[in-house]
Amino acid sequence: MKQVTRWSPDSCGCVLEYEWDDAVPATARTHTFKTVVKKCSSHSALTDKDIYNQVLSENTRKNKVFGIAQQFLPEIKSENYNWSFDDKRILKVGFIDIPVSGEQMNQIRNAIQQEIVVGAVEVI
Ligand SMILES: [Zn+2]
Repeated sequence: MKQVTRWSPDSCGCVLEYEWDDAVPATARTHTFKTVVKKCSSHSALTDKDIYNQVLSENTRKNKVFGIAQQFLPEIKSENYNWSFDDKRILKVGFIDIPVSGEQMNQIRNAIQQEIVVGAVEVI
């Protein structure tokens, strides 16, 4: 049966709904955009479909950078991960209350450059 999930991402103030099918095994499920319930000020100029793609892309990027940081800082917790999007929706990230050596910082920066669109993330 088709199910609708309401999603309030932590990466902006939009509220979106997507549809998925519970008859499909969890590993093979896909999410299909359904509606924009609320547009945040950063995304209000986009079409509804573009909002979904943009918000998904930003939220995925934010989580992916945390995953990269975990590879080099295995003890990192979500509260050590300081992130925000600037007005051009570039992700700015930093690490707080956790020791990060210069070498670890270089490793994190290199991995981000290889795995994520150049210019989409800045490590501060
Ligand atoms: Zn938004």
